[in-house]
Amino acid sequence: SPLPDYMTEVLEACSDEDDGELAAYIPELAEADPSRLALALATPDGTRYAVGDADVRFTIQSISKPFAYALALVDHGLDAVLEHVGVEPSGEAFNEISLDPSTNRPLNPMINAGAITVHSLLDADRVAAGFAAFAGRDLEVDEQVYASELATADRNHAIAYMLRNHGIIDADPHAVVDGYTRQCSLLVDVGDLAVMAATLANAGTHPVTGEQVVPRWVARQTLAVMTTCGMYDAAGDWFTTVGIPAKSGVSGGLIGALPGKGGFAALSPRLDRHGNSTRGVRIFERLSGDMGMHLMEVP
Ligand code: GLU
Repeated sequence: SPLPDYMTEVLEACSDEDDGELAAYIPELAEADPSRLALALATPDGTRYAVGDADVRFTIQSISKPFAYALALVDHGLDAVLEHVGVEPSGEAFNEISLDPSTNRPLNPMINAGAITVHSLLDADRVAAGFAAFAGRDLEVDEQVYASELATADRNHAIAYMLRNHGIIDADPHAVVDGYTRQCSLLVDVGDLAVMAATLANAGTHPVTGEQVVPRWVARQTLAVMTTCGMYDAAGDWFTTVGIPAKSGVSGGLIGALPGKGGFAALSPRLDRHGNSTRGVRIFERLSGDMGMHLMEVP
């Protein structure tokens, strides 16, 4: 069929790109095979395609952040979540130790300070069940990546202590970082990520299971925050060139969700200086151009 052929062609077109470095601050991630390359698509009617290394599983890392945010919105409502975490782009690196100076809240849920706060609003069972609903199957934790990250998580512990100092989180900082690190260590493949993105793009209804995983307003809020804050300190670059809500993670995953049209996910572990997958960004630039996906494009 023409669509998978086209997707394979997109992968081939950027397979010679070898710029970027593996994330090394989590020792276990530095062991990943840098040549991995995969792309998946899911549409609201449940059509799914995946090409390249589509059966490779990797840890979800920061791509978990929008989904955890969505679950917290469902459980606590918008106002209560906003009391804890803002929605302003920070223009800062993902692991910046910073808070909004006037409110002491993390600026947004896509940087670690915000994501650790969001995680503190969920319990472990809710994370497991909520991510299973988004993926359409139960997700396992990669215990090795989890242990590797937790052993070196000094910076996230510093962030969690800062959050408790300001009364933004109540829980024990160690317990919150432990749970957040498990959330980041959930194993997915690009097909899982594409349906998860497609669920947000489909106003919260899972394209395969048909379950309303989150209400429409939660999907909208989450996509809006991904648009302004999803690509670390390259969010402006990304939105002007690619123009769709997105989220990247340090294991090289990258999702894009096009409202009403579907979800895409790419994997390529080498990262650019912002921490976004180098080839992933190339793939999405190509998809956006070829398929006219830029949301600011006047039809
Ligand atoms: N678990 C990672 C951290 O908190 C996620 C970072 C990322 O993917 O950007 O450092």
